[in-house]
Amino acid sequence: MLVRPLVDQERIQREIETLAAFSETPKPAITRVVYTKPDLEARAYLKQLFLEAGLQVREDALGNLFARWEGSAPDLPVVATGSHIDAIPYAGMYDGVVGVLGGLEAIRALQRTGFKPFRSIELLVFAAEEPTRFGIGCLGSRALAGVLTPESLRLLRDAEGRSLEEVRWEAGYMGSLEEVLLPSGYYAAFVELHIEQGPVLEQEGIPLGVVTAIAAPASLQVSLEGAGGHAGGVLMPERRDALCAAAEIILGVEAFAKNSGSINTVATTGFCQVYPNAVNSIPSQVKLEIDVRDVEQSRRDQVIRQIIQGVEQVCTRRDIRYSVEIINMDPPAKSGSEVLKALVAACGDAGVRFKLMVSRAYHDALFMARIAPTAMLFIPCRGGVSHRPDEYAAPEDIARGVHVLALALARLSLAQERESPKDEPTPLED
Ligand SMILES: [Zn+2]
Repeated sequence: MLVRPLVDQERIQREIETLAAFSETPKPAITRVVYTKPDLEARAYLKQLFLEAGLQVREDALGNLFARWEGSAPDLPVVATGSHIDAIPYAGMYDGVVGVLGGLEAIRALQRTGFKPFRSIELLVFAAEEPTRFGIGCLGSRALAGVLTPESLRLLRDAEGRSLEEVRWEAGYMGSLEEVLLPSGYYAAFVELHIEQGPVLEQEGIPLGVVTAIAAPASLQVSLEGAGGHAGGVLMPERRDALCAAAEIILGVEAFAKNSGSINTVATTGFCQVYPNAVNSIPSQVKLEIDVRDVEQSRRDQVIRQIIQGVEQVCTRRDIRYSVEIINMDPPAKSGSEVLKALVAACGDAGVRFKLMVSRAYHDALFMARIAPTAMLFIPCRGGVSHRPDEYAAPEDIARGVHVLALALARLSLAQERESPKDEPTPLED
C-alpha cells in the first residue's frame, strides 16, 4: 500500500488531556455519564474537532455521533471506526477515548498524505457504552443495530427514576427513536481501536492485538425478599434472612463458573444492595447483579441455567421470595474475515508485530458485528488496568495503533466488494 500516514502523536495526547477535563471528578479520575453536562461539553469539543477536520457531522436521536469523510463513491456502504467517550465513575482517560480521538487522528493522518477515500469513511461516537445510567451497556450501538427496539428504549429509566426519553430531550436529543436503526448494509466494515483492558499484550511485549472474537456477555438481576426484624429479638430458627440466601447464591455463582470446564468462563456478582443495611436489623431485601461471560455461548448459557436453579434451591430451602430477571444475554461476535485480513495486512504494511486474541470485555463492536463485518484492534494498557484513574496507555502504543488503523481504513475504503456478514443477526430481546 502506497499510503504512509503520518500520525501526530503529540496532538492525540493533547486532545486526550483536553477531553479528560470534561469530567465530574478531577483528573485523572474521569466520570462522564451519558447526557450529563460533562458528556455534552465533551461532545461539543469533539464536534468542533470533527468540523475542523472537514468532516460532515450528524447526531441521531440517542446522541450517537457520526463524522463522515465523503468518498468518491458516496452511495456505497461506508467504512467506519469509532468507540465511546462515556466513563463510569472514577474511571480513566483512555477507555473508549483512544478509539474516538485515535480514529479522528487516523482520518487526519490519511488526509495529510493526500489519500482520497473511495468508500466514505465514518467516525462514530456511540452513546452510553457504559451501563452506568440505564443499567444496560452499549445503548447506542444496540439501537443502531436493532438489538434494542424503540419500545424497549422508551421503558428505560435511570436510578433516579427518570426515563431515557426525559433525559435525552433535556440534553437536546429530540428526534424520533424510530430513526436510530441504521438501514441494512449501511456499513461495509467497522473497526474499533481500544485499550486491551487486560494484561496479555504488556506481559508478552506485543504492541498490538487483532481481535478475532468478542466473548458473549450476559447479566442477571436477582431480587430476594425474606423477613426483617430486630437483630436481638428474632431467634435464629425463625429467621428468613435475605442476605444469608444471597451469600449462598454468590458462592454458587463462583463455583458454577469455576467448574464449567473452561478457563474462558467468568462470572461475577458485582452488585449487592441490602435493605435496610443496618447492623441491628435482619436484612429483609437484597438485590444482586450477576455478570456471566464466555466465548462459547452454550457454556455460558449452561452456567446461567445453573445459577437460576441455584437461586431457586437456596430460596426454597430458606423460605425466601425471589425473582430473577435476565438483563441481557448477547451472543458472541466473530470478526469479519475481510476486516481481519485488512488489519493483518495493515500490520504488515506498518511493520508492527501483533497477536490474534479474544476480547473478554464487550464493546460497541459486539453489536456493530450484527450489521457489519467487524473487528477490533487492541493496544496495551499498563498492568491491564482499566476503569480506574490510573488507567494508562503509552503515547507510542496509541500512535502505533492509530497508524495501523489508518492503513486498514485506507485498504477497506478502497475495497470494491462488501463482505457479507456471516451470521444472520439474531436479536435477543429480554
Ligand atoms: Zn470501552
